[in-house]
Amino acid sequence: MLDHALRILKDVFGYDAFRGNQAAIIERVAAGGDALVLMPTGGGKSLCYQVPALMREGLAVVVSPLIALMDDQVATLEELGVAAVALNSTLSADEQREIAERIRRGQIKMLYLAPERLVQPRMLSFLQGLDIALFAIDEAHCVSQWGHDFRPEYLQLGQLAELFPQVPRLALTATADKRTREEIVQRLHLDNAERFLSSFDRPNIFYRIQPKDQPRKQLLGFLAARKGDAGIVYCLSRKKVEEVADFLSSQGFPALPYHAGLPNELRAYHQKRFLNEEGLIMVATIAFGMGIDKPNVRFVCHLDLPKSLEAYYQETGRAGRDGLPADAWMAYGLQDVIFLKQMLANSEGDERHKRIEQHKLDAMLALCEETRCRRQALLAYFDEELPQPCGHCDNCIDGVETWDATEPARQALSAIYRSGQRYGVGHLVDILLGRDNEKIRAAGHQHLAVFGIGKGFSEVEWRTLFRQLVARGLADVDLDGFGGLRLSETCRPLLRGEVGLQLRREPKPAQAAKASSSA
Ligand code: ADP
Ligand code: ZN
Repeated sequence: MLDHALRILKDVFGYDAFRGNQAAIIERVAAGGDALVLMPTGGGKSLCYQVPALMREGLAVVVSPLIALMDDQVATLEELGVAAVALNSTLSADEQREIAERIRRGQIKMLYLAPERLVQPRMLSFLQGLDIALFAIDEAHCVSQWGHDFRPEYLQLGQLAELFPQVPRLALTATADKRTREEIVQRLHLDNAERFLSSFDRPNIFYRIQPKDQPRKQLLGFLAARKGDAGIVYCLSRKKVEEVADFLSSQGFPALPYHAGLPNELRAYHQKRFLNEEGLIMVATIAFGMGIDKPNVRFVCHLDLPKSLEAYYQETGRAGRDGLPADAWMAYGLQDVIFLKQMLANSEGDERHKRIEQHKLDAMLALCEETRCRRQALLAYFDEELPQPCGHCDNCIDGVETWDATEPARQALSAIYRSGQRYGVGHLVDILLGRDNEKIRAAGHQHLAVFGIGKGFSEVEWRTLFRQLVARGLADVDLDGFGGLRLSETCRPLLRGEVGLQLRREPKPAQAAKASSSA
């Protein structure tokens, strides 16, 4: 069986050997078994179903949520001489009929389609009349409500188990913690699936996360040693994407904007240029990336905080697919936290959903404030243990100093409390520093016991401290829209003197701007 698989790998795809778990997965599926495949992006998931599809009789059905991705795959397969088609809504009724006819005649080997299409009763009964080689369910984490991009259509894929009991099914995903994995198995009825879990470590990526201070200057500092490299800079808003792209261009870095607000043709054009030209920087919202397979992306920067570690891992994972050194660099600040928390509070969705999202954001914040190896922390989130610190992240290289912030933290919390739990960080810092200004006077805050007790620290140090308090959940952001801070339940033991607080000491700006992987 393995010989057969290797022959196909060589003859059709032109590769000499399987990678990682590929051979085992292919063997399992070719023999008719189910599989759950967890493999990082770029790990080579496609071959896990494409090879057994060619080894088995009949039509292989591939479910994918992304039309662009399907079209890419189909184009690649056609080039390799494999009869593949994608059924999507852009096809005319005539074209669809023609495809159905070719399928019926057995002229198509691989059929790509969206989940909502597959589960249409007409489609299901059409497929039941055929010989099916396998079902591959790509991006299987979409079935999980705990996952970061739940798609209700995926829930209906569970019925394939009963409708096609003899047909092997594999679910594939690049992101799934333990909980999501269980959900995939349960909802897709994959009880008999063998699980193939690959390591998620991307050893060639250097991780660095620094406090946001002057983001553009920091970004330039990071890019200075990377002139001529291709990279992606992620921003949260369309407006910021445009501004940063303009800024980088004006500084001699060839940059293109990409976001959902651009006309389709322009977006496609920018994407094409990024893929085909060397050394371009794509400044983009998260609309950019799914299915981008450019091996030599040398860096991924975040100027805004991602909403979750899943998102962070996915986005940074677009760097260094060729295995050569690459960087994941991020600047994050209190504003990011406030903004994301507000977005979350104002989002549609029930309480349960919001709690999950909140939990995910907290995990992201914990990585930012992490004092140990970032890679260990990141992998631990995906239930993978890295036995030793990696030696290839900012914390490992620079070391992290912690300091006893118990007393200043109490002072900061006290300033929040005594001023009525509704002021933003700027005003709170003014109170602690004893600044005499109009807003202070109007509120009578010059009379507070905490007024001026924090003169031993600078403005920046206080701001950092407030950010860390929020990141650790000791203070909460008032979600009515003005970003005021309140105390949270969890700060009580600290206020009562029952526990202390150790915080990470921020690197000095000069040190923070230092190049990372090239250093
Ligand atoms: P994923 O879907 O897991 O993100 P892909 O299936 O798109 O990854 O594969 C990523 C890249 O690795 C593709 O360019 C693919 O051709 C290549 N690749 C996969 N498996 C092998 C292999 N065994 N040998 C060489 N190249 C491979
Ligand atoms: Zn490390």
